[in-house]
Amino acid sequence: MKVSTFPIFTLKDAPADAEIISHKLMIQSGMIRKLSSGQYSWLPIGLKVISKIENIIRNELNAIGCREILMPFIQPAELWKESGRWDQYGPELLRFKDRNDRDFCFGPTFEEVITDLIRNEVSSYKQLPLNLFQISTKFRDEIRPRFGVMRAREFIMKDAYSFHSNQKCLDETYDIYKLAYTNIFKKLMLDFTIVDADSGNIGGSKSNEFHVIADTGEDDLLLDESLNGMNLEIAKIKYSEDDLNKIIKKSGLIHKKGIEVGHIFKLGKKYSESMKAKITLKDSSMTNIFMGCYGIGVTRIVAAAIEQNHDDSGIVWPQSLSPFQVVLIEIDGAKNEQVRMYSQKIYNELCASNIDIIYDDRDLKMGSKIKDWELLGIPHMIIIGKKETENNNVVYKSRLSKDKKEFALDKLIEKISKS
Ligand code: ATP
Ligand code: MG
Repeated sequence: MKVSTFPIFTLKDAPADAEIISHKLMIQSGMIRKLSSGQYSWLPIGLKVISKIENIIRNELNAIGCREILMPFIQPAELWKESGRWDQYGPELLRFKDRNDRDFCFGPTFEEVITDLIRNEVSSYKQLPLNLFQISTKFRDEIRPRFGVMRAREFIMKDAYSFHSNQKCLDETYDIYKLAYTNIFKKLMLDFTIVDADSGNIGGSKSNEFHVIADTGEDDLLLDESLNGMNLEIAKIKYSEDDLNKIIKKSGLIHKKGIEVGHIFKLGKKYSESMKAKITLKDSSMTNIFMGCYGIGVTRIVAAAIEQNHDDSGIVWPQSLSPFQVVLIEIDGAKNEQVRMYSQKIYNELCASNIDIIYDDRDLKMGSKIKDWELLGIPHMIIIGKKETENNNVVYKSRLSKDKKEFALDKLIEKISKS
């Protein structure tokens, strides 16, 4: 990719109104732009990070036999009235009428729609278990949208749903998702923890949250030494204040802030009972379907990853999330035909080695180009000017070090491919 056809929109200064570092850096590096409160457009470089996250999620879910679908964003009120959530959900559910005066809402979550789909498709235990997921836009009319995409109104969530003919199968599957989520967050190279949580608006008997640990997190976590524990919210429901203080002292629990990036629920029969989703069992008796649901905040992960990976110059992407593996910075290529031709040759060879590379062919000073790509956090930087063209080598700089080194191209490809 060349910057002449893959535009970047970096800003000189951080926006004054952004309160946390990830929000500042996402705006300044041109990943996102605000449309209105809690709504953001994703620019090419931001969208590339999203697709990296989505691919990691897709691969792990496919590996446990969960298949992708896509459901409509706008949902009819009838289904929400059936489940009882039309009245329970509150103002976060953005409601409207169509031209025929029928009630609808923008989907904040999809238990109703998927339960409706499955009750029409599945009638026998022989068709279960079944695992489906989607990656799509959700809308919640949050009371205080803030921190950019961290707490947005419109955001991308991956939501998966599982269907079973008995509790044992649900229990086993829940543990499989827990493990798949652990693999996903490890592959995303995030520092995270799993805690017991409250089921909130979604419901069900058991739930676990996945949190990225960061001081800017909005959740309070009580963790032991190995970082296992619970959300303070649920601890307060379970124990009196006195008991809780005793437990914290006795077990030496520590208080940390977390960003909730994933949440899994054992729903049991909550939706299948209210919405009458039934199957026939082997002995010809009927049962309501047992369900689980499993969410990951895709766009929130982008912000959470930046909270954990930045320095004074900007973002420091972990390899797994970086929009590009390598940036090639050409010095004065617009003025020097030789430099342009040599840069193009190096670019072609890196592309041929399957290295995901962006070639900065803008007519800008070297200093501003380097500043932009440090802000954008690309792990490897190659610099090519007149000297390198004559010497038939390249200058290499890692995002994490100030030092520059000269390399012959084949040695460099080896180094980058290994990292
Ligand atoms: P929160 O407690 O942060 O409001 P939630 O518990 O209401 O989140 P869930 O219903 O569990 O959210 O949704 C699944 C995932 O979707 C969350 O774990 C989170 O990562 C993401 N998510 C939820 N609300 C938002 C939001 N307003 N902006 C961005 N991501 C969100
Ligand atoms: Mg949650």
